[in-house]
Amino acid sequence: MSNVTVCARFRPLSSKEKRDHGDVICIRSIDAENFVFKDEKDEDFTFCFDRVFYPGSEQVDVYEFLAQPIVRDAVNAINGTIITYGQTGAGKTYSIEGPSILGCDEQKKEGLLPRVVGELFECLKSADEMIKYTVKLSMVEIYMEKVRDLFDLSKDNLHIKEGKVQGIFLSGVTEISILDPEEALRSLSSGIANRAVGETLMNMASSRSHCVYIFTVRQESTKDRRMKTGKLILVDLAGSEKVEKTGAEGRVLEEAKTINKSLSALGNVINALTGSTPGKVNHIPYRDSKLTRILQDALVSPPLLCPHQITIIFYQKPTVFSSYRVETHELH
Ligand code: ADP
Ligand code: MG
Repeated sequence: MSNVTVCARFRPLSSKEKRDHGDVICIRSIDAENFVFKDEKDEDFTFCFDRVFYPGSEQVDVYEFLAQPIVRDAVNAINGTIITYGQTGAGKTYSIEGPSILGCDEQKKEGLLPRVVGELFECLKSADEMIKYTVKLSMVEIYMEKVRDLFDLSKDNLHIKEGKVQGIFLSGVTEISILDPEEALRSLSSGIANRAVGETLMNMASSRSHCVYIFTVRQESTKDRRMKTGKLILVDLAGSEKVEKTGAEGRVLEEAKTINKSLSALGNVINALTGSTPGKVNHIPYRDSKLTRILQDALVSPPLLCPHQITIIFYQKPTVFSSYRVETHELH
């Protein structure tokens, strides 16, 4: 079985979109794995995913299908990564953070992060009493190939290193020890607030940088002091919109080029991992971008011993085409 799961999610149309275009969008659902997409030239394409989340899907559906198993794995020292990919406005941040990290007024709207944190501590409560667990959290942002610490903005160019024991690590990154879900959410919220501060200082928008959340679950056996670590990484990628379409110039163009470069580096790594010819070990180009280098441990090739799970969610903005209506009633 592949350790790469690829899902698609379509957000509902906003009320403005509905007002402007009516309640129709460019996909037609077939079943929970397949849908038909109509492109701008009016041509039909059928797409197959491990799972499609149609506009009627709830946050909990996304969480249970793709995040819950990864959280449980992390507690068992198995690495996992969830990556959200898509144009700005397609719903990546909403899936990861929900409308707000702290005090989301409707629990059903909570994003992946608060659910991950809740589950993580639930799992630890029922875990083996002979094991001492510690959970640490880091948050970084990658902008123009520079890695910035979101818990300490003075660390604005972290270096990625590789050690024999710990594997890939960000040298000097702030790691906050978290003892309970409330503390985790407060830390996440301060990281997100720092992101906004940094954006203002650097005159950029959050959609132009990648945001990486790293949970490290360390376990130490009280019997023989053996240590194991599980890493759970969530990545809110920069918007995947094409440069040509934005008519960008100067700094904005440079930003877009850097984003495209790192997104294609990610694509190349995933292709190399999933498309390998049996019996042949492909070269995996991790070093082509900061993003793939940080994710190297999570994106290890299948023959390696350390098991892991990578999930990519593609987001498609619900563009409007008059002849298509999504029929999602039985498919939520
Ligand atoms: P991105 O991070 O991909 O740029 P956002 O997550 O910010 O996009 O989403 C764009 C807008 O759509 C936001 O106003 C967000 O609240 C809304 N939105 C996204 N996904 C959903 C959803 N599944 N249900 C309701 N609203 C959503
Ligand atoms: Mg976003």
